[in-house]
Amino acid sequence: MILRDLFSYSEEGAGAKSSNPDKGIDVREVSCHTALSRSRLPGLDFALNPYEGCEHGCIYCYAPYVLKARPSLWGKWVNARMNIPTLLRKELKTKNGMIGIGTVTDPYQPVEKVFSLTRRCLMEIVRKDAPASILTKSELVIRDISLISELSRVEIGITVTTMDDRIAAKFEPQATPPSRRLEVLRELNDAGIETYSMVGPIIPLVTDSNLETLVSEIAKSGTRRVMADGLRVRPGMLEEMHKSEVFNDTDFRWGFDRAISSASYFEKAKLRIEELCADAGLAYECAF
Ligand code: SF4
Repeated sequence: MILRDLFSYSEEGAGAKSSNPDKGIDVREVSCHTALSRSRLPGLDFALNPYEGCEHGCIYCYAPYVLKARPSLWGKWVNARMNIPTLLRKELKTKNGMIGIGTVTDPYQPVEKVFSLTRRCLMEIVRKDAPASILTKSELVIRDISLISELSRVEIGITVTTMDDRIAAKFEPQATPPSRRLEVLRELNDAGIETYSMVGPIIPLVTDSNLETLVSEIAKSGTRRVMADGLRVRPGMLEEMHKSEVFNDTDFRWGFDRAISSASYFEKAKLRIEELCADAGLAYECAF
């Protein structure tokens, strides 16, 4: 029923196409061949992505370049891998190791309210009590607190690139505002779930404009660990980013491009975050 509230929906099953006319997002139900793919990301053995594509549409997202998708359409389509919970149940019989949930998509993007694929995968992970690491920008993760709490080994990372909701809306148009993400961190910590905050990608002139407040708010949320990441620029990515209205401001564009082309910019930003974390008593990891 919820599905019909949000999407026009075909009941033809896998391969059928649905769309959300209000947001102009195409949602397609598809089948996949594998649930758990080997991951080369640090600390992860497997990647689990219940969706392809991401409605959050962050303008700095490198996933379309990894997936060879059209960057200009990123955020406008999602493929829901309808059979992934069933595949996962089978694969968990033989595949053991840390599962990263949401490595090239946000597992709690709005379409998860409709399909619950992430939740159904989590149910399989809980059944096996497999270790899991979830990364999201969405408050929807709160829905699954009681399920996640059943796991012996789990962590949830919440990404925060700025404390300014207005600016975040330009870079991460469909994601939960950062002020709410900080509350989500607090709620997860209150529930006794291990959390970290992903400060990344560091966006020049945005993330670094008020790092003191950002780190201090993370510490106040009860989170004890910060991971920082730089902006991973792929061929054609800057040209695509420049199309965003935020780059109409020529001073911003000039400063941003200058920072990106400087060899030392991210190194300095990383050291500053590390210092602030040390002052706030937060553990610090660098992902770049
Ligand atoms: S939430 Fe993550 S996967 Fe989704 S668009 Fe943003 S950066 Fe990309």
